[in-house]
Amino acid sequence: MTRMPSTTSAAPAGRYAPSPSGDLHLGNLRTALLAWLFARGTGRRFVLRVDDLDRVRPGAEERQLADLRAIGLDWDGPVAHQSDRLDHYAAAVDRLTSAGLTYECFCTRKEIQQAVTAPHGPLGAYPGTCRDLSPAERAQRRAAGRPAALRLRSARTEFEIVDRLHGRYRGPVDDLVLRRGDGIPAYNLTVVVDDAEWGVDQVVRGDDLLPSTPRQAYLATLLGLPVPEYAHVPLVLNTEGKRLAKRDGAVTLADRLARGETVDRVVGRLAASLGLAGHSAAELLPGFDPARLPRDPWVLDPDSLVVAGRCP
Ligand code: GLU
Repeated sequence: MTRMPSTTSAAPAGRYAPSPSGDLHLGNLRTALLAWLFARGTGRRFVLRVDDLDRVRPGAEERQLADLRAIGLDWDGPVAHQSDRLDHYAAAVDRLTSAGLTYECFCTRKEIQQAVTAPHGPLGAYPGTCRDLSPAERAQRRAAGRPAALRLRSARTEFEIVDRLHGRYRGPVDDLVLRRGDGIPAYNLTVVVDDAEWGVDQVVRGDDLLPSTPRQAYLATLLGLPVPEYAHVPLVLNTEGKRLAKRDGAVTLADRLARGETVDRVVGRLAASLGLAGHSAAELLPGFDPARLPRDPWVLDPDSLVVAGRCP
């Protein structure tokens, strides 16, 4: 059975694309809220896609969707699942391969780790170790049983994108992985194929993904797909300045409710962190102005949120 929504709708869309690896924390909910506000505030459709090719925890998707609904987000059409779309990713890889734009890579994780931290080339960029292997060398590696990933044969080392909050952003493009050694299509490919399929022309997500974006935009151009507009929004950090995580304490909606807070209170708190006033997603919409969003991360101390009634 396919859960794939109809994908031909021309109306532009924004989206949120959680990975069902666990419960959403307040940082994830804040990014989802922003993605919804950006989309709805510009009359776009809003689509929800579950990135379930990796790290799936049973029950997480259901809880994530319930939390998104609880904070007042709605979306158009059925929820999309990447696991339903393997043939689309394979078709995109085939197109690139037919154009001579891929090659097999036999490097181990350790070899890549050593290569990407070597003191030459752009930081984190794959140096092309397997790019020019001879047919005999490839055959030898295959015979040795090394599972091959498939990489893009990139003609660029940099690509520029435009971000609503970061302006023009130039970042490295390398021979990125399109299909992993275990056969799973890589995130940088799937996100590009999916966003185009659903007419997503506005990508709002955490700014930890900004460095991957030039790669994705370049890949879109190679596939003849439109490059969306981007807004990489500040993350929520813990009191040590690290990205918020479950281990930081009461950081999920369920945790907050268990501590006696209401959903309204939690949404109000997220809104306040964005310089907005209101206690439901719909209430925030009229006053939402991307130009006035804070550019710095929100540092969250889960214990300072404990006492219901004292939060904004
Ligand atoms: N599933 C990815 C994540 O949660 C989505 C990233 C994106 O929005 O492109 O990190």
